[in-house]
Amino acid sequence: MQERWSSGRLIVLTGPSGVGKGTLLKALMKRHPEFYLSVSATTRSPRPGEVDGQHYFFLSRAEFQALVEQGELLEWAEFAGNCYGTPRRPVQAAVQAGKWAILEIELEGARQIRDTFPEALRIFVLPPSMGELEQRLRGRGQDSEEAIARRLERARAEIDAANEFDVQVVNDDLDLALDRIEALLFSSADLQANASAY
Ligand code: ADP
Ligand code: 5GP
Repeated sequence: MQERWSSGRLIVLTGPSGVGKGTLLKALMKRHPEFYLSVSATTRSPRPGEVDGQHYFFLSRAEFQALVEQGELLEWAEFAGNCYGTPRRPVQAAVQAGKWAILEIELEGARQIRDTFPEALRIFVLPPSMGELEQRLRGRGQDSEEAIARRLERARAEIDAANEFDVQVVNDDLDLALDRIEALLFSSADLQANASAY
């Protein structure tokens, strides 16, 4: 069922694990602290340095399941053996307060958002090559060999679906990719504003 929240807007950023979504968003939020970056719930264990409530809400399976049953997640999906989902209330509150809310989510969740919020802008981040993606996953040094293998397998399926998104951005040079994303956000907002003026 489609939903419509007035005022702000929803932006979805998707791309294979290790492509640099987190890095890009950290830099984007520095440039635009007025944006709202959604904090997801997950059943995955924290990586070194990850803080509960800041990077994710780290939940047990039972706690996550309770959120699903109570309709508290805007979307959710399983990824590489763990569940991930977007808490509905804070995102809704941000959009209703006129903010641009950014969801960094995987493919299945992005598809759910396409169905419930067709007007959301959906951006897919591509790696320059599969070899570079593997290097970035390894270079991050925070996933086991098994987790890296699962993420690379899933990466191929996600990249095959890149055309489903409104736009694709290759994260080769970080600053150029960031400039491109920023430009896309503002040009699409202008387009939406002009369209609703008629
Ligand atoms: P994701 O959030 O998509 O899983 P990360 O932001 O954690 O990916 O990035 C994975 C690794 O790739 C990190 O070590 C990060 O520093 C590195 N990285 C990100 N963007 C670039 C880039 N444009 N060029 C080289 N390395 C990058
Ligand atoms: P990671 O374990 O590397 O932090 O995240 C794994 C994948 O889960 C990434 O592709 C990330 O975008 C995705 N993800 C993070 N939060 C959510 C969420 O709330 N919903 C969905 N569907 N995917 C998410």
